[in-house]
Amino acid sequence: MLTYTYFGKNDFRLTQKPVPDITEDTDALVRVTLAAICTSDLHIKHGSVPRAVPGVTVGHEAVGVVERVGKAVKNVRPGDRVSINVETFCGKCFFCKRGAVNNCTLPDGGWAMGCRIDGMQAEYVRVPHADCGLTLIPEGVSDAQALLVGDILATGYWAAKIADIEKDSDVLVIGAGPTGVCCALAAALKSPKRVFICDINEERLRFVQNNYPFLTPLKYADALGTLLRECPHGGADSVIEAAGSEESFRLAWQAARPNATVTVVAMYDRAQTLPLPDMYGKNLTFKTGGVDGCDAAEILSLIASGKLSATALITHTYPLSRADEAYALFESGADGVMKVALEPSL
Ligand SMILES: [Zn+2]
Ligand SMILES: [Zn+2]
Repeated sequence: MLTYTYFGKNDFRLTQKPVPDITEDTDALVRVTLAAICTSDLHIKHGSVPRAVPGVTVGHEAVGVVERVGKAVKNVRPGDRVSINVETFCGKCFFCKRGAVNNCTLPDGGWAMGCRIDGMQAEYVRVPHADCGLTLIPEGVSDAQALLVGDILATGYWAAKIADIEKDSDVLVIGAGPTGVCCALAAALKSPKRVFICDINEERLRFVQNNYPFLTPLKYADALGTLLRECPHGGADSVIEAAGSEESFRLAWQAARPNATVTVVAMYDRAQTLPLPDMYGKNLTFKTGGVDGCDAAEILSLIASGKLSATALITHTYPLSRADEAYALFESGADGVMKVALEPSL
């Protein structure tokens, strides 16, 4: 079968591999119908994910059809259309029971597929702990609609869930890339007064304006002034930082009103400083962490009922056989690209 494989720094290639076997009773084999390219794939490509194993098939955002299941799998059957979770987790440990599936204590858990074991930019993928890792796609929901559920929609949904967003409040999302937009869409479900979303990239702000008119795009340079001026209590009630630079980290706490919650989902390439003397008396609550993919079924039902749609983010689709071109476009940021989907059957 055709796969897109990581060989070393700046070396991803189309490679033929055997169709994977089911090796554990809890595994499922899924035929991938659509996969997406994520910024984390680029982190592997650029050599900044030390735990990524050379030789693995990359990709951790996909949907497909269950081909075979191990004896112990109960939740899915061959023929089921499923969304695949970026995280491998047990559903039973202390953290899983509390919904913190990204802290699952499984030795083979966490971000495994497309990093430490073969991932989803391939014709088939073996999904370990399939009862937790696969979620049925409701009838009427297309592959494109469900594609982002397992990773960036899960991230956005989780970020909005922990951000203490109250009705009629003001939310600021920093970063209008695909993850920031997912955070903003999930925040909007909480009925705040306004969801501001800022970015330095004006093309991305236009994308937000054209596709999601219920969000309020802001130029990055204007964001702090606008928030301080327009919010009744001296800043945003909830801030979600999804950009990941020193400046965006600073903006996150500066644009927050006293007693606000600042949720940090961004990845930083170096440590950030909390200048505590400058924020003394501001009484901020900080929440941090990566994707916590515990709500895939809930997200899919919101998509099925028309309350949530991130499909506009998929701006380009390529056959898997043209993955080199697809990655080049995604990396370049050209042509208004947000997310690129790969179709193995083409
Ligand atoms: Zn990802
Ligand atoms: Zn667990």
